[in-house]
Amino acid sequence: MSTYVFGHSTPDSDSIIGAISLSYLKNQLGENTIPSRQGEINPETEFILNKFGYEKPLLKTEYAGENVYLIDFMESSQSPKDINEANILGIVDHHKLGDLKTATPLEMWVRPVGCSNTIVKQMFDYFDVEIPKDLAGMMMCAILSDTVIFKSPTCTKEDTKACKELAQIAGIEDYKAVGMEMFIVKSDVLNATKRELVLRDFKDFNMGDKKIGVGQLEVVDLSVFDNMKEELFEAMAELKAEGARNSVLLLLTDIMLEGSQLLLLSDNSEKIENAFEVKLENQQAWLPKVMSRKKQIIPFLEKQF
Ligand code: MG
Ligand code: MG
Ligand code: MG
Repeated sequence: MSTYVFGHSTPDSDSIIGAISLSYLKNQLGENTIPSRQGEINPETEFILNKFGYEKPLLKTEYAGENVYLIDFMESSQSPKDINEANILGIVDHHKLGDLKTATPLEMWVRPVGCSNTIVKQMFDYFDVEIPKDLAGMMMCAILSDTVIFKSPTCTKEDTKACKELAQIAGIEDYKAVGMEMFIVKSDVLNATKRELVLRDFKDFNMGDKKIGVGQLEVVDLSVFDNMKEELFEAMAELKAEGARNSVLLLLTDIMLEGSQLLLLSDNSEKIENAFEVKLENQQAWLPKVMSRKKQIIPFLEKQF
């Protein structure tokens, strides 16, 4: 039996770097853990790993009989299929309370901050463990990614504090410039299929008896999507049919305008219109100020479904 540390399916930078940082901390504390991931990494994460000279965590999708620490999620819909046969030792997360169950007591570090790596930073401080320079740089990037360079309404003072301290450890002065570099990498949407784009940062949620999938693409300028909306809708329609989903939403978030263009395919469009108090036009609506799926989308959908 081994102990693995991993984040949600369709991993983002917080999930991948969180697996690495939490595993490192656990090992410093005398445990023997292996960072892993449930799926392919996205271009932003690849950029961060390359920048700081780290390898991708081990790709692993089955965990029956293993010990596990979960980071950045606690929903069965974002878990490996056999999560109920794994032994969950602990959860480090910044999302709403999920539906996972455990048979034994567990360690939980769950806080309403903007990034799981902010919590991991606080754990390093709590246990008085030093953070290696390059790991600090990666954790800083995870915070800049999840908080959209502090612009997301999920960003707290704790995130900005942790980020600045990590930048200092990493010896990075202009951390916001590094953040911008990351989002420019993220904005390159031309080298992927439309299906890959919809799935790049995609999460399923069980609401009532319905499955709702919500994807998000955060870019520096929305015009990159101008000539691809129809094809994005085609990819969304495929995913809706394949996964027996009630709805598929895609948020095209403009981090400079600080709002999101919503693309929607749903069996209950009226519920979505009610959730966001908008009228859809061509299955689309502009949601001003909306940047966070976790805080500004999911709670309103939950209410309707
Ligand atoms: Mg995440
Ligand atoms: Mg996160
Ligand atoms: Mg995000």
